[in-house]
Amino acid sequence: MNTLVSVLYIVAFVLFIYGLMGMTGPRTAVRGNWIAAAGMAVAVVATLLLPGMGNWPLIALGLGIGAVIGVPAARRVKMTAMPQMVALFNGVGGGAVALIAWVEFRVTTGYEAEPRYVAIASLFAAIVGSVSFWGSGIAFGKLQEILPGRPVTLGRLQQPLNIVVLTAAVVCAVIIASGGRSELLIIGVLVAAGLIGVMVVLPIGGADMPVVISLLNAFTGLSAAAMGLALDNTALIVAGMIVGASGSILTNLMAQAMNRSIPAILAGGFGGGGDAGAATVSGAGDRPVRSTSTADAAIQLAYAGRVMVVPGYGLAVAQAQHAVREMADLLEAKGIDVAYAVHPVAGRMPGHMNVLLAEADVPYEALKEMDESNSAFPQVDVSLVIGANDVTNPAAQSDPSSPIYGMPILHVTSSRSVIVLKRSMGSGFAGIDNALFTDAKTAMLFGDAKESVAGIVEELKTL
Ligand code: NAP
Repeated sequence: MNTLVSVLYIVAFVLFIYGLMGMTGPRTAVRGNWIAAAGMAVAVVATLLLPGMGNWPLIALGLGIGAVIGVPAARRVKMTAMPQMVALFNGVGGGAVALIAWVEFRVTTGYEAEPRYVAIASLFAAIVGSVSFWGSGIAFGKLQEILPGRPVTLGRLQQPLNIVVLTAAVVCAVIIASGGRSELLIIGVLVAAGLIGVMVVLPIGGADMPVVISLLNAFTGLSAAAMGLALDNTALIVAGMIVGASGSILTNLMAQAMNRSIPAILAGGFGGGGDAGAATVSGAGDRPVRSTSTADAAIQLAYAGRVMVVPGYGLAVAQAQHAVREMADLLEAKGIDVAYAVHPVAGRMPGHMNVLLAEADVPYEALKEMDESNSAFPQVDVSLVIGANDVTNPAAQSDPSSPIYGMPILHVTSSRSVIVLKRSMGSGFAGIDNALFTDAKTAMLFGDAKESVAGIVEELKTL
């Protein structure tokens, strides 16, 4: 039986890695997801075949409850709610690891006859899994607006309290590893680690949550790998390390693309105010704003040779992707070249714009990465900025005092003209003014992005 289980585990690992490779492009992502899911199904079946497995009704009940909650939730979730969905599923993984560590403590009577590494790995899994569960819960609450999105801090007490709670978790763990058998100790580890998760994530602004979720995702992976080490379960070690490594890489890439350090993100206090707040930095506010109409925008587009669509978070909020596709079809029918400039952190999660545009069957070849787009802008007649703000903000290049200074941006002003579609002069994620909106080349088309694009489509049909 063990040989069969080992073979099935190897099959599962191959499927995990093959599935993950599929995630590198939107064309193969759905297939990659199915392949990885098949790998997970194989790993679950193999685990159920392990000698000593029992209590089948309980196992069936667990699988049933998981499927009944998970499948409809994943099917119904809106694209814009995907980050909180990931937070929830990730948190559940961390919580499961923490509970397994607790069960292991009970079954082995405080790791009594176990080698030292089993106790250490289990306790590590208990701490990190509990941090991930409670931290992800807070991240979910903030994104779902159950909790305030703004940073919630205890002021000067925050850091000393964090240290006290962390010390409590570590002290309980050290006592257990040195032979402590009281169940209160493991409960102490789990509670203190849970408090750390809550206290570290609460002071972080809602808009930074995607990075935090990615970090907590990596934590869940590491805790699962540690638990796999303690239980001598290769599947858990491999799956946990894949999640831990990919989560760490993703966190790093997101932080780099936003030009922020991970410690700065964890320090909190950035971008908690939502996306429709008033602009806060002076400079652009006193320059005149040129606004345009759907009719004028349509004429400008119809007489262009090259159009670059620059999508941002507002496109996702407005769900304007299908209207954009319709507009692009009409322009292409007139012989106009239409491409899409995709900034790596446009929207609120990695690949947000790619997924939205793929949903509307925008050809993948038309999506241009940042460097390619920036080289193309000088040949572009009209840049159509749809619900994008920070990723086009010149302050990232010109104003060292700006919170986004150093973040690479899309140089839309290199094109011959710019039309910006948004509802107001309000700021984006970073909560700052954008001089692009008052640039001499820019015309503002105010309104909901979907309605504005639909208006342009109607006008284009008459031209
Ligand atoms: P943004 O700077 O957040 O700006 C979005 C703009 O969309 C807002 O200024 C808003 O202006 C407009 N908007 C909202 N709803 C709209 C609607 N229904 N119709 C039309 N416009 C609408 O977005 P971005 O340029 O995509 O930049 C993304 C930001 O998120 C970056 O600062 C990035 O660092 C950050 N971030 C990204 C990720 C990621 O992984 N992608 C993760 C965390 C943070 P109005 O209110 O005036 O309409």
